Amino acid sequence: ALKIENLHKSFAGLEVLRGVSLEARRGDVISVIGSSGSGKSTLLRCINLLERPDQGRITIDGEELRLKPSRKGGLQPVDRRQLERLRTGLGMVFQSFNLWAHRTVIENLIEAPVHVQGVARREAIEKAEAMLAKVGLSEKRDAYPAFLSGGQQQRAAIARALCMDPAVMLFDEPTSALDPELVGEVLKVIRDLAEEGRTMLLVTHEMAFARDVSSQVIFLDKGEIAEQGSPQQIFDAPQTERARAFTSGFA
Ligand code: ATP
Ligand code: MG
Repeated sequence: ALKIENLHKSFAGLEVLRGVSLEARRGDVISVIGSSGSGKSTLLRCINLLERPDQGRITIDGEELRLKPSRKGGLQPVDRRQLERLRTGLGMVFQSFNLWAHRTVIENLIEAPVHVQGVARREAIEKAEAMLAKVGLSEKRDAYPAFLSGGQQQRAAIARALCMDPAVMLFDEPTSALDPELVGEVLKVIRDLAEEGRTMLLVTHEMAFARDVSSQVIFLDKGEIAEQGSPQQIFDAPQTERARAFTSGFA
């Protein structure tokens, strides 16, 4: 569903990604763990080209994103429309809640299907209602985001991503901005998605959760995959000193 090959990214001489490759097959749940500054968010941002990689290949559902060198440095899309199309295959959920404040929950959910994908409004609404039910938010259908708790806003953001039928869901620390008592309800939704076989790439500091839901765990260290394997391998029997140091205390 998602293939990343040899991704490189530097910021002003600082090498943040040093040749990262990974592949998520259909139904894989890959957790990316690693210390602050190791490049986890940059990796996700390069995958959907919110950040321009310096080098690398990105393939979504078998279609490679065509990239060319840009004059400002880094790679840029050859064809803007291909990028837009491939991006609709990536459901992004960030740390901060990024719902449109001046739109109700249901309007947030149907915006992209109607205006980007060209889905009929009636159909988009039906789908949105089903996704709201899935994340347990049906009763907030017509509420504005400001009237939702952080956990509810994050669940609405997940429902919004699901409305695009993404091939892969990308999560960047979806619970780290939440009050502790709200973390569980968001993790439950993500766990349900894992159990129904959604392909996901999840950056998280929730080690117990990563261990529980992942088919594979990637330990990123200074922009490199230092270790990769099953949750048991990474948490119970890490091969490298760096991974051992990072996961000890969680396992
Ligand atoms: P955290 O766990 O704190 O979220 P992270 O693993 O997500 O960390 P990144 O946000 O990917 O780390 O950042 C990796 C490095 O790249 C950091 O040193 C950061 O300061 C730097 N960096 C990230 N974005 C930019 C940017 N737009 N301009 C300059 N430097 C950046
Ligand atoms: Mg980050």
